[in-house]
Amino acid sequence: MTKKKKICELSIEDQCLVRQALEARQNAQPPYSNFYVGAAVLGSDGGVSKGCNVERANYTSTSHAEQVAIDSLIASNGPVGICAIAIVGAPRDKEPNAAVWPCGHCRGIIWENCLGNKNVRILTVVSKDEVEISTIGELYPNAFGPEDLGIKIGA
Ligand SMILES: [Zn+2]
Repeated sequence: MTKKKKICELSIEDQCLVRQALEARQNAQPPYSNFYVGAAVLGSDGGVSKGCNVERANYTSTSHAEQVAIDSLIASNGPVGICAIAIVGAPRDKEPNAAVWPCGHCRGIIWENCLGNKNVRILTVVSKDEVEISTIGELYPNAFGPEDLGIKIGA
């Protein structure tokens, strides 16, 4: 079940993840939607990586913040499991004021590196001092993933 929590009550690790997602949002390139998204992912090796959405004129080649964060973590640390991902989204000049959960495309991408762990945390910033927290198991039930192909990603 989704829980609401004060950012200051999160673990230091999760506060850091939220801060990095907020920072990444500042770098987004969404000239078409004007919807700025930032994400930060925590790898099971302790590595953290940031991502933001990057829109392109053909729309199809748009990169989502969650995917950029995970791909960047892999680029730095190799294929690795993830423990948590923080996401924040809002129009350019607005403070985040509502939960922005990963889209269907990104839920599949997140699941790919969860290594079968349905308890991987997903945090979304809902105000300047609050987040909502869920898990990939809640957001992406009956997932299709590498396990369906008999493949294990990462270590
Ligand atoms: Zn997405």
